[in-house]
Amino acid sequence: MPHPERIAIVGASLGGLRTAQALRGRGKFEGTLTLIGAEPHYPYDRPPLSKQLLAGEWGPEKTLLDPPDRVDGLGLDLRLGVRAESLDLEAREVALSEGERVGFDSLIIATGAAPRTLPNTPELAGIHTLRTIDDSMRIRAALAEGPKVAVVGAGFIGAEVAAVARSAGLEVTLIEALPAPLAQSAGVEVGEALAALHRDRGVDVRCDALVAGIEGGERVERVVLADGSTVDADLVVVGIGVAPETGWLEGSGLELRDGVVCDATLAAAPGVYALGDVCRWYNPVFDEEMRVEHWTNVIHQSRQVARNLLAEPGEARPFASVPYVWSDQYDLSIQSLGHPKADDEVEVLHGSLESREFVVGYRRNGIIVGGLTFNMPQQLSSYRPLIEQRTPWEAVLEHAQAMS
Ligand SMILES: Cc1cc2nc3c(=O)[nH]c(=O)nc-3n(C[C@H](O)[C@H](O)[C@H](O)COP(=O)(O)OP(=O)(O)OC[C@H]3O[C@@H](n4cnc5c(N)ncnc54)[C@H](O)[C@@H]3O)c2cc1C
Repeated sequence: MPHPERIAIVGASLGGLRTAQALRGRGKFEGTLTLIGAEPHYPYDRPPLSKQLLAGEWGPEKTLLDPPDRVDGLGLDLRLGVRAESLDLEAREVALSEGERVGFDSLIIATGAAPRTLPNTPELAGIHTLRTIDDSMRIRAALAEGPKVAVVGAGFIGAEVAAVARSAGLEVTLIEALPAPLAQSAGVEVGEALAALHRDRGVDVRCDALVAGIEGGERVERVVLADGSTVDADLVVVGIGVAPETGWLEGSGLELRDGVVCDATLAAAPGVYALGDVCRWYNPVFDEEMRVEHWTNVIHQSRQVARNLLAEPGEARPFASVPYVWSDQYDLSIQSLGHPKADDEVEVLHGSLESREFVVGYRRNGIIVGGLTFNMPQQLSSYRPLIEQRTPWEAVLEHAQAMS
């Protein structure tokens, strides 16, 4: 690809903004840079939406990724409150919701993901999902009314919402379809340790619990579970995962499969890149394709996309990474490294599950593929190089012993 003169970025959040900054900064890109975002707000950060903002500890302005004048200083053609409707790859144009078409030489797709909703649920007041700052402010206002809260889904976001609501003294039920919270991504043992923490704090944690329906009049009144039991609730927050925002790319010719499919350099087509929650790419560290919904992944991918997009032919580099994610619940800091899966073997490497201060390692085919900690972040980070180098388990145990 010749060097681009016009770059369009779709998605004006963490990935979109940080890529624009990398292009203007280190990339020294001085051409036209259009940043298109469906939300009307200046780019803001999402992790506080289920933590400090929801708890009322922060005001909305504190979630901004950068002050607006710094964003304006990038000299962008900034289109906020405007949705990309479709992509014409041949004409190299993005059609916008306002009817305009934006031409580009290179395109960056950073449209993230949107919450999944429960099937067959009526549209009742009091049922929420949490992805945007507006969602968070709506739930925060609802929490202030002192409702009975039901959270459906005990992944990180659901569990964080439960922790915030319970810390505010509310009656909270946390409903999880799997045998334990996080069972899919962290294993049942770790999930049970997390469930025990929430129970100690007074949350009614129901596992193996499938939602059969949600009932009410105008407002939600109860959640009905598949075993026939009910959970009374005036506020229901559904946190059952997200789906990548690829609807606008249907029919564009790009390969879409639970995300925009990219090669190891994050390229989806010549001059077209994707990053962040919407990107499915081949990660050489794990020798597999993956899509990651973590904050630091977005930061690292945005730098790599800026570099690869402006690189000389043949100079684009693969994005090889060990994913990292954190979650804060009560006084617990959870951090996870790597790419653990439900059927990996889990072994405690430091501390104990009962004390809720531990590091576990995840073993697949005799090598370490991940680690997770409750409140022992330094010990966990020492395993990053071992995961990166696909270290055999015996050497992992030696490392654990040396660290103890
Ligand atoms: C409540 C919450 C808490 C989180 N907490 C943590 C945490 O503690 N730790 C962690 O590691 N990660 C956390 N995350 C995940 C992290 O925030 C995401 O990985 C990150 O926001 C992804 O950035 P992104 O730019 O890829 O996508 P997004 O942040 O989803 O941004 C995509 C943007 O694109 C816009 N868009 C979508 N479609 C279109 C279109 N067709 N046209 C124009 N614009 C469009 C969207 O409106 C959105 O503004 C959390 C996420 C949420 C929601």
